[in-house]
Amino acid sequence: MSNKPSLQRAQFDQVMVPNYAPANIIPVRGEGSRVWDQQGREFIDFAGGIAVNCLGHCHPALTAALMEQGNKLWHLSNVMTNEPALALATTLIEHTFAEKVYFANSGTEANEAALKLARRYAQDKFSSDKIEIIAFNQAFHGRTFFAVTVGGQAAYSDGFGPKPQGVTHLPYNDIAALEAQVSDKTCAIMLEPLQGEGGIINATPEFLSAVRRLADKHNALVIYDEVQTGVGRTGKLYAYMHTNIVPDILTTAKSLGGGFPIAAMLTTSAIAAHFKVGTHGSTYGGNPLACAVANAVLGQVCQPQVLDGVRQREQLFRAGLAAINEKYHVFSTVRGQGLLLGAVLNEQYAGRSRDFLLASLDQGLMSLIAGPNVVRFAPSLIIPETDIAEGLARFERAVASVVA
Ligand SMILES: *Cc1c(COP(=O)(O)O)cnc(C)c1O
Repeated sequence: MSNKPSLQRAQFDQVMVPNYAPANIIPVRGEGSRVWDQQGREFIDFAGGIAVNCLGHCHPALTAALMEQGNKLWHLSNVMTNEPALALATTLIEHTFAEKVYFANSGTEANEAALKLARRYAQDKFSSDKIEIIAFNQAFHGRTFFAVTVGGQAAYSDGFGPKPQGVTHLPYNDIAALEAQVSDKTCAIMLEPLQGEGGIINATPEFLSAVRRLADKHNALVIYDEVQTGVGRTGKLYAYMHTNIVPDILTTAKSLGGGFPIAAMLTTSAIAAHFKVGTHGSTYGGNPLACAVANAVLGQVCQPQVLDGVRQREQLFRAGLAAINEKYHVFSTVRGQGLLLGAVLNEQYAGRSRDFLLASLDQGLMSLIAGPNVVRFAPSLIIPETDIAEGLARFERAVASVVA
C-alpha cells in the first residue's frame, strides 16, 4: 500500500481502445460483496459486475470448482465433449423447459445463435421469406452485428454499414402494435422479459401472453433473452418462471458463470434439430473450466433458500430506497424485480443518473445506471443484510451530496 502501484488508471487511455470510460479507481481484490482498490479503499458492491457476480466475489464453492478443474483439464474444443459440459447441460435441462443446450461464451453469442436458429428453423419448416424478427425499442441483446441490430437502440447499431435485414422494432408492452405487425412472415419475437439496459422496465403479464399467443398463431418462435434476468436474479431461476408463459428459445449468460465467461442457449429438441453438424459453432463454447464453474453456480443458486433470499433482499432494498426518497425526493418509482432494481429519477433530477453513480463511488459504493434516468442495482444474490444496510447508508450520503 505504501508504494505507488506501477499500473494506473491513466495508462488506460494510452493502451486501450477508447470504447470504455472506466472509473478512476482500480479494484484489485474482492470478497463477498466488498471490493478493495489499489489503495486499500473498501467498496460495497451493489453492481455485481453488471448482474454477473451472483454469488459475490471469490465465493468458496466457485473458487474450489475453478481450482479443481484447473488442475484437471482446461480446454478441448468441440472436437471432443467433456464432463463439466455434459453435467451442466443436464442440470439446465432438469431445471427448465429446455431439452437441448448450446454453449457459448457471452450473451451476445448466445443471442446470435438463437437468432440464427430461429431463421434456419423458419426457412427449413416454412418458407424462405419467413424472416421477420420482431423486437422492441430500448431492448439490449449484445453487440455482434445481428444481435445489436435486433436490439432497440439505434445509437449502438448505426454507423457500421448495411445491417442484417428483416428486423422490426415495436414499443415494449404495446399489444396493439404487436397485433398490427405480426404476420406469417414473422420468424421470431425476441424480448427481455424485464428490460435491463433499456431502463429496468417490467413487462406486463398481458403483453407476455400476447407475445406467446400471436407467435403461436403465426408459427413464429418466442425468444426470451434472459442474459440479465436469469440464474436467480428475479427470485426464480429464470424470469419466465414467474408466469405460465414458456419461450421456445431462452438465452442465459451473465450470472451463469458468476464471473467466469459462459453463456447458453436453451431450446426444445424439435427446434434444436435444425442446427446440424457444422451449421453453427464456437471454439470455446462449453469449455471445461467455464462449465465447471457454472455447475457450481447452479448448485448454489438452485437452493430454495437462495431464491427466497433474493425476494427478502428485494424488500430490504425497496424499503431502504423508499426511506431515502422520503427524505430527499429524488425518485418517481422503483422498477424491476428481485435483485434487478431500477430507481427512476423524478423530473427534477432527470438525465442525472451518472451523477448519482459517481457520488456513490465517492462514498464507497459501486452501483450502476440504466440509461440517463435510472440508478440500477444488481448485487450478489447472497449479499449479507449488513452489507445492504451499509451500502444503503452510503447511497443515502451520495444522494444527499447530489441534492445539496
Ligand atoms: C448484457 C446483456 C447482453 C450481452 O451480453 P454480453 O455477455 O455482454 O455479450 C445481452 N442481452 C442482455 C439482456 C444483456 O443484459
